[in-house]
Amino acid sequence: MQYDFLIVGSGLYGATFAHLARKAGKRCLVIDKRPHLGGNVYCENINGINVHKYGAHIFHTSNKEVWDFVNAIVPFNRYTNSPVANYQGELYNLPFNMNTFHQMWGVATPEDARRIIEDQRAEAKSAMAAAGVTEPRNLEEQALLLIGRDIYEKLIKGYTEKQWGRKCTDLPAFIIRRLPVRFVYDNNYFNDKYQGIPEGGYNKLIEGLLERVETRTDADFFADRAYWESLADRIVYTGPIDEFFGFRFGKLNYRTVRFEHEVLDIPNYQGNAVINYTSADVPFTRIIEHKHFELFGQAVYDSPSTVISREYSTEWKEGLEPYYPVNDDANTALYLKYKTLADAEEGVIFGGRLAEYKYYDMAPVIEKVINLYKNE
Ligand code: FAD
Ligand code: UDP
Repeated sequence: MQYDFLIVGSGLYGATFAHLARKAGKRCLVIDKRPHLGGNVYCENINGINVHKYGAHIFHTSNKEVWDFVNAIVPFNRYTNSPVANYQGELYNLPFNMNTFHQMWGVATPEDARRIIEDQRAEAKSAMAAAGVTEPRNLEEQALLLIGRDIYEKLIKGYTEKQWGRKCTDLPAFIIRRLPVRFVYDNNYFNDKYQGIPEGGYNKLIEGLLERVETRTDADFFADRAYWESLADRIVYTGPIDEFFGFRFGKLNYRTVRFEHEVLDIPNYQGNAVINYTSADVPFTRIIEHKHFELFGQAVYDSPSTVISREYSTEWKEGLEPYYPVNDDANTALYLKYKTLADAEEGVIFGGRLAEYKYYDMAPVIEKVINLYKNE
């Protein structure tokens, strides 16, 4: 055997694993079927701007060990995610905070905002009581209970139904629970202690993780499985779990996003990295303007052009990138059947968002690999 580990997939899971294994003196080969390394955090450089090709990525964590780990590879900048919502030309700050409440109702104090929200919550509670339920049965009931009808109608309903392709009344309540509601003037989308973007872009992070690691791109594990398997004692597999087992129980479902990238000859298109379009009549969910992740102040204008991406959420089919696992009962049951096979497979570690069929943010992926390594 030439290698201790064959690592299938060069996303954050595979790259972090390769980094730690190499530091521990193991020989690794990382292969990826795409023409580049980095998985979904890969950026394409257009006119000096790092374009997040597979969707906007903002790193955030409260775990100091993970934050120090990534910053030792490449320093992170001070980017703070503060998206704005556009509802039929009306602009609102996100997440829901005193700025949003002021824009929605003209209120200026937490007490006045709370009074309006409490009234609307009470309405939702009595509607549920009339229906004879105590726990919200779906996302709509949860949102009405959390924040009331005005914000639900303008900032949640349209966006969520476009994103998931289903009615809010058919979606699970938990999706909306992670959105913060704050009675302070604070537009920071995340509650985490640390956030930012790698200086110079995510490719720098991947290059740093894979420094002195052998890699091959345009290399599909399934194109010559026996050959790749013959190279290493153990395999770290980060591709789709159903594909590893030849889809023998059937295919797992995903939601995907179609990106329409556009280069514009102006320095500043929308003045913010992220603008959500929350009404149902706009077909896309949001517009990303990539330069605002890394350029601040005058630097925005020093680069004469800009790149924007409109995001269209769609159902996944063969040939499209699988992005978001669909955590409904049927898919969860199917995944568990594959997981039983994976648990019994000797010499293979299944990890990351595709192999674990799990929506993972970046920091938890890295944390998982660090812990796996500690325990080995
Ligand atoms: P991936 O990055 O998907 O890597 C898997 C790799 O395996 C791919 O490169 C693939 O080509 C390769 N592969 C698959 N099959 C084979 C095969 N047969 N042979 C060879 N190679 C193969 N997280 C955040 O923390 N903040 C965000 O703002 C954020 N935004 C996101 C936006 C979108 C649209 C999406 C989809 C995810 C977002 N995430 C975000 C999550 C983040 O992308 C993941 O946490 C991270 O990419 C997981 O890394 P991974 O290595 O598990 O998977
Ligand atoms: N959401 C919403 N309006 C917005 C942004 C988010 O209703 O302007 C809802 C939507 O249902 C989404 C959920 O909040 O699925 C979580 O949003 P977040 O941005 O955290 O999720 P992501 O897009 O990263 O999956």
